[in-house]
Amino acid sequence: MQEHTMAVLPPSSQSRDYYSMTQMRAFFSKGGCNFVYFLRYVLGYKGTYSSSAWLSVHIVRQIVQMAYHGIPLTEAHARVWQAACGPIFTQLQAWYALDRECQASGRANTKAREHWLGEHPTYAELATSIEAYRNEFLTQDYTWAKSASLAAYYRWCCELVALPAERLLLPHAFLIMGQPLYDAGGALIERFADECDTSEHYTMLFGTVGNIRVGGVPDIVAIDPQGEVRIARVKVMSHPMGQQDVAEDDQLTLDLELCRQARIVFPDQHVLLGHLYFTSTNEVVPVWAEPSPDGLSRLAWQLAHMDRRVHEGDFLPVRGIATGAFNPCPSCEMAAACREELRRIQHPNQS
Ligand code: SF4
Repeated sequence: MQEHTMAVLPPSSQSRDYYSMTQMRAFFSKGGCNFVYFLRYVLGYKGTYSSSAWLSVHIVRQIVQMAYHGIPLTEAHARVWQAACGPIFTQLQAWYALDRECQASGRANTKAREHWLGEHPTYAELATSIEAYRNEFLTQDYTWAKSASLAAYYRWCCELVALPAERLLLPHAFLIMGQPLYDAGGALIERFADECDTSEHYTMLFGTVGNIRVGGVPDIVAIDPQGEVRIARVKVMSHPMGQQDVAEDDQLTLDLELCRQARIVFPDQHVLLGHLYFTSTNEVVPVWAEPSPDGLSRLAWQLAHMDRRVHEGDFLPVRGIATGAFNPCPSCEMAAACREELRRIQHPNQS
């Protein structure tokens, strides 16, 4: 008869220097599967994320950051894409120039469009070459939906930066990615003056919630001449959250608390928390809300729970419990690492 024993996780009760919202999401998000956290932060596996995360983190947020520092949007766009996709940047530019002609040639599936495509085989060749580059270099860490393509991301981004800057940027911003925009004399800080400097620029703010040390990087903090504060996160997605969800958002609650503890925001100031949604239709949709009065105490509760479980090494995979649409495993960024590690933990004697 086969003997069933309980799997034993390796000791994991390591103190963390601080907790971030990214760690909290790894702990709580996947249908309550804190094994994601264990794989990522205890064992050090890298996850595989959706291609929209690549677009958001490596392209849009960097363009926006440069633009706040006074770099024209089109120049910021060129510099960021050059850094992200240098070997095919000229192909992307050539493809986009042809793409504009293609769109102008007539509607899809018309004779006029068909004629244009027949006359311009380079258009399809460039697209193939661009996606070949994507398959070679951008699929190890990111998964691409069938409908997503690198060329389409580039087109979307070109159209985005053609908008007037005031449609993309928040007025009266003074802190971007945790770093001040202006020096003590009120002059704009030229953080990206050196064209070769494409490194990520951010500064973490640290504080405590409950008695837990936390860290984070607020995307944008603005204060208008009347003293009203706006704390915003840049989001690249087509379905904005509602106002109530924004009010309750832990990440914005943490941003506000870190700003208060750093004396960037004072208790008597009126604050709005918000998401700036960069949508697929090239609209920037802001959603603003007053902070929830319950947000901070709930965050402290969640952090204390997480810290206790992390110290106890109390992690559990939820694989096999939920089914159908409720099963978090098919879309889990740690699915490959999870399979590998579960096999190792449950069958320690197999090589
Ligand atoms: S694949 Fe499923 S069980 Fe494994 S870490 Fe992800 S959500 Fe948890």
